[in-house]
Amino acid sequence: MGTRKSNLNALAEVPVSGLHGVGPRIAAALRRLRVFNLCDLLLHLPVRYQDRTRVRTIFALRSCAEATIEARIVQTSVATRGRRHLRCLVEDDTGQCVLIFFHFTAAQRKSLRPGSRLRCFGEIRSGPGELCMIHPDYQFIRTGIGAEGEQHLTPIYPVTKGLSQARIRGLMERALGSLRATAVDPTDVLFAGKGLPSLCEALFLLHRPPGHEDIGLLNGGRHPARLRLAEEELLTQQLAMLRLRQQSKSEAAIRLALPQRDRDAFLERLPFRPTDAQMRAIVEVLHDLDRPHLMLRLLQGDVGSGKTLVAGVAALAATALQFQAALLAPTEILARQHARTMLEWGLPVELLTGKSNRRQRHQVLGRLARGEGVLVVGTHALFQCEVVFARLALVIVDEQHRFGVSQRLAMHEKGESQGQSPHRLIMTATPIPRTLALSFYMDMDYSLLDELPPGRKPTKTVVLPGDRGRKVLTRLGVACRAGQQAYWVCPLIETSATLEIAAAEDVVKRIATVLPDVSVGLLHGRMKSADKDSVMQDFLAGRLQVLVATTVVEVGVDAPNAAIMVIENAERLGLAQLHQLRGRVGRGGQNGACVLLYEPPLSAVARQRLEVMRTTTDGFRIAERDLELRGPGEFLGVRQTGTPEFRIADLALDGASLEELGGLAKSIHDPDLVDVLMQRWVPEGERLVEA
Ligand code: ADP
Ligand code: MG
Repeated sequence: MGTRKSNLNALAEVPVSGLHGVGPRIAAALRRLRVFNLCDLLLHLPVRYQDRTRVRTIFALRSCAEATIEARIVQTSVATRGRRHLRCLVEDDTGQCVLIFFHFTAAQRKSLRPGSRLRCFGEIRSGPGELCMIHPDYQFIRTGIGAEGEQHLTPIYPVTKGLSQARIRGLMERALGSLRATAVDPTDVLFAGKGLPSLCEALFLLHRPPGHEDIGLLNGGRHPARLRLAEEELLTQQLAMLRLRQQSKSEAAIRLALPQRDRDAFLERLPFRPTDAQMRAIVEVLHDLDRPHLMLRLLQGDVGSGKTLVAGVAALAATALQFQAALLAPTEILARQHARTMLEWGLPVELLTGKSNRRQRHQVLGRLARGEGVLVVGTHALFQCEVVFARLALVIVDEQHRFGVSQRLAMHEKGESQGQSPHRLIMTATPIPRTLALSFYMDMDYSLLDELPPGRKPTKTVVLPGDRGRKVLTRLGVACRAGQQAYWVCPLIETSATLEIAAAEDVVKRIATVLPDVSVGLLHGRMKSADKDSVMQDFLAGRLQVLVATTVVEVGVDAPNAAIMVIENAERLGLAQLHQLRGRVGRGGQNGACVLLYEPPLSAVARQRLEVMRTTTDGFRIAERDLELRGPGEFLGVRQTGTPEFRIADLALDGASLEELGGLAKSIHDPDLVDVLMQRWVPEGERLVEA
């Protein structure tokens, strides 16, 4: 038995609250990162690394992208020309450099006293005649000399409110203390032949990389230690799918034969004609439903390709025959939007979300229990145990990239526990290259919407340096007065939520000052979900003309009137994310415009990436270019994957090994080994957690 046990899996039994220094607040912050126990914690990998092992002279900075220096403060002042910022001039024996802070506190300003010595780490920008370090991390040096650089590369973790980098690094050190670097994991044999490190070696390396490790490989996501974990995660996903497929294939299901005239009558009532691609997908879905076997179909289509209609027809097939259908959306707002759409299309709709009040709940649950033929639209609340579907025949999941394979397993189990297996239609906009789609979704049949509705004009994209924001504002004013709406997105600055929100608040103030007649709303991650919801509703209803948002605007939201998308610091976002964001505008047939603002100077790769966005609107093409352009040395401040259902794997980086891993999955017959993998990556507890 000894070697069959996994050291890491055993740590899943230890809640993070068992770590020294983790109180309720830190535990809550970790929960938001979906870290519940030490195993989750150790699988929470850095987004990137910084090299603080060497202290450089200011003279040598011009050739660096990021560096550590040790310097004396000469002068600290607040500059008011251009964007207001704090400037701190520092020097060492070789030259001078300016530390720049766009967001700062009065206390911070006071503390940066002339004569004090600092060690600073940050991104280097060389402006005309001046060397700058933008938003450096810094610490005061008390003892004058002999301060050494760090021994290890510095990991930068995804963090959240109430959890600092320093704190999570400390926790990680403690968690590593419970792991033996030399421990053998039962899964190691699967990867040893490929020359990949053992699980424990990989974890130690990724959380505590020695100073001499190749930082380019690490930041490019191509280090063997990361590959070891990513491949294991993909392998497990493939195993889970195999399991789903095997369970489902043999299962009988309710046959839903929608008469063609009902289908046609439904389509004729629409305000538009379905595209050929939509018609193809509708025929495929109806064909599947009209068989006594379970349908398991993936509907893939770029943002705006009209997936909702296919869902509507599928739901009709169920409700027309007095069966029940459930449509799952990842958020309240999307659920409500879908409910509205389906109602307009004449479907018998009920809405059930975590926010439905008791009376509404009672009514919906009653109808479901009585077996009435309704379509319930909702969030994960639909999977709570008390919801009993008497005649559930179909489950539709929208924007599947927020529902991983774990949720799919849960859905399956829900169906089984109620003695029937509903057909399943899963909709996603994740632009997975066609060659990968088949192996990636090997448990499913596949329909593709490869065409946008007619009259949709491609969103025009311009790329501008950030200091042109003023011009953009003027244009925004013109558009708003003409009745259009706009999003203004301020993405994560490094990994600090506080700075991010400060940046967004700045934008709101700027817009309010320059365009006093325009109504502006703010949406950020620290708001209560009720407040978020009401801001979003105001925007959808047209009461707000500009929506300034920090984190990604609700995936899949359809605000037909939104015509303009401004994205600040666009160079920091991944192409998949930029594409998703841009897909939010120009949906109502008007000319959409997307403005990508960047902070110069741009690296060569960043320039090319923005150029891809400027010249292409095709999601598949963008996904391909994304892959080509992701080289070592190119790092971004945020996780930029197009497949967020994974913790570690990234299809752009790891997709090439999918087929091989699918083969490997089929060859694994040892149930203990399967259990180790499933426990680690698809834990029971996570299956019903709210997205
Ligand atoms: P997505 O695939 O991103 O979920 P939606 O289903 O939200 O796309 O559709 C985007 C918009 O396009 C909606 O406003 C929808 O009403 C509209 N639409 C869908 N199909 C058509 C069509 N065939 N012709 C015109 N407009 C359409
Ligand atoms: Mg959608």
